[in-house]
Amino acid sequence: MTSLNDLPLRDDLRGSQPYGAPQLHVPVEINVNENTFGIPDAVAADIISAVSRAVKGMNRYPDREFIELRSALAGYVAHGVTVDQVWAANGSNEVLQQVLQAFGGPGRTLMGFPPTYSMYPLLAAGTQTAYIAGVRGDDYVIDADAAADQVSRLAPDLIVLCSPNNPTGTALDLDVVRKVYDATDGIVIVDEAYIEFGGREAPTAVDLLPGRPRLLVSRTMSKAFAFAGARLGYLIADPAVVDALRLVRLPYHLSALTQAAATAALAHAAEMLTNVDAIRAQRDRIVVELSRYGFTPYDSAANFVFFGGVADPHAVFTTLLANGVLIRDIGIPNTLRVTAGTEWETTRFLEEISALGPSAVLH
Ligand SMILES: *Cc1c(COP(=O)(O)O)cnc(C)c1O
Repeated sequence: MTSLNDLPLRDDLRGSQPYGAPQLHVPVEINVNENTFGIPDAVAADIISAVSRAVKGMNRYPDREFIELRSALAGYVAHGVTVDQVWAANGSNEVLQQVLQAFGGPGRTLMGFPPTYSMYPLLAAGTQTAYIAGVRGDDYVIDADAAADQVSRLAPDLIVLCSPNNPTGTALDLDVVRKVYDATDGIVIVDEAYIEFGGREAPTAVDLLPGRPRLLVSRTMSKAFAFAGARLGYLIADPAVVDALRLVRLPYHLSALTQAAATAALAHAAEMLTNVDAIRAQRDRIVVELSRYGFTPYDSAANFVFFGGVADPHAVFTTLLANGVLIRDIGIPNTLRVTAGTEWETTRFLEEISALGPSAVLH
């Protein structure tokens, strides 16, 4: 048996760890912010027929420009977005990787604001882009002037702002995007993976795109759309940015099956999103109940809750898992993160948490 260290691996990858949220099968899986309601039956039937039509044409390469899917995405995003402003890939992770391949790389830097999405440093490492950590304010809120000041001092080539932020759920004021954009000549990415959970009137960085050709908004069908298994993430930006991503994407990177499934799902966007309000209600319930138990949940505009005041996060994680409830231990001291699921899943989580008693709370 060969070990990794025996291989002629790139030196900068030696000793690093792959992304590894536990994939365990238990009755209540609320650890990776999926939409646990699943896809409505009527929509599933339409997706299945679209996919079976695509199977018949699978001897041919798929549309390299996936125009039909991009039009459907532009229609869904609305806010005046046109098809030439839209790009997509196998999850927004692949979109972000393509952005780093085109605009990052050796000698260049990506700045994020931890605690934030754990994939940013990993995507940076994979593309040999150095990662710079910015600093948040109290309660994980990013202040516009403080962020712009850090950006002008550290002069990163790319900046990623997660809105709302994973793992903390913190909403991002659009003023942060405006001021950070003005403080750099580089690329500013706003990751709106959870935007739908902010409500219908939630401010979006898409409205800031006119006149800002270096601003990129990434989104995904993995969360609100209940489509994590299909792998479809997308980006809205100036058409010139889309031209840049064509230079690094693999030819035919979106399979005919992916294109067919995602296009069919988008034709039923309203039905796909029917459970978003129910999920938001469970999220708010988690915040209220965790406070009652003595924990300190943070305000969340997403479909998960980050909470502090946990005496021993690993012990809580393990006890809940033993009782069939899988949540997320991010590794931040005295905190845990939980996804808002169905009412039953949320009830199971809250029952297990309350059964721990007051000794679980940090004093
Ligand atoms: C889940 C998540 C994504 C989505 O990743 P996909 O590759 O589209 O499944 C992107 N950004 C953040 C912050 C996330 O939490």
